Amino acid sequence: MPELPEVEVTRQSFADRIAGAVVAELRLGKPLRWPLGAALQALSGQRVQGVRRRGKYLLLDLDQGLLLLHLGMSGSLNFALHQPPPGVHDHMDLVTDKGTLRLHDPRRFGAVVWAPSESSPEAQKLLGRLGVEPLDGGFDAAAFHAALRRRSAPIKQVLLAGDTVVGVGNIYASEALFLAGIRPTAPASRLSRARTDRLHAAIIDVLSRAVRQGGSTLRDFVSAEGKTGYFQLEAAVYGRAGAPCRVCATPIRSLVQGQRTTFYCPTCQKH
Ligand SMILES: [Zn+2]
Repeated sequence: MPELPEVEVTRQSFADRIAGAVVAELRLGKPLRWPLGAALQALSGQRVQGVRRRGKYLLLDLDQGLLLLHLGMSGSLNFALHQPPPGVHDHMDLVTDKGTLRLHDPRRFGAVVWAPSESSPEAQKLLGRLGVEPLDGGFDAAAFHAALRRRSAPIKQVLLAGDTVVGVGNIYASEALFLAGIRPTAPASRLSRARTDRLHAAIIDVLSRAVRQGGSTLRDFVSAEGKTGYFQLEAAVYGRAGAPCRVCATPIRSLVQGQRTTFYCPTCQKH
């Protein structure tokens, strides 16, 4: 599943090239997760002003309103001057005078939704519950600690919920908790300020490293430039059950939390 770093890498791969492009037409294939919410023809002639990211959504600002794109479970975007004829899994072509942005999405959990503005109910239905962005100045260590104090659930599940800080998916939550020395099952509300400070720094470190490396989680991840962006993060714990901890050599353990597998070192990570 594309996580925040993959979505950010995707954004960076085409944002500069599509900025200023005029939409010739939007073509949609098989139904995606939600309907577009506008007439296809309404987009023709509009200029793409830029591409922003909020959580795992890409926001294409248009002269009128914006397009919200989500890659779902298996989606990827490719921007090219000339695209081959759409294949069976290509469900969106945004054709512009600078190239065509194509959504390839075999499982069709992705989304292409138009909204009149970011604050409109149509956009807020998708964006309204997202927590702060981990990779911009709004992610504050003191506010993070205060938010966790109100949550009695295990810290790993609070991170995955995405309403405290957005975009810390399963891999990155496991890795950040290892770096911070915190057991995934520790109740969020009981973590000291010093430990949440370490977690805050670890989240920023893990995610920004993944962005620099071109995203890590989708094996067939291809950036919008067509380059294979897959780069296996040197995982400390994720996917390493039974293997020796890279710090203390204790075998890494796994457990299931909220239907997701969590990996941790029983020696390095404390409650
Ligand atoms: Zn260890």
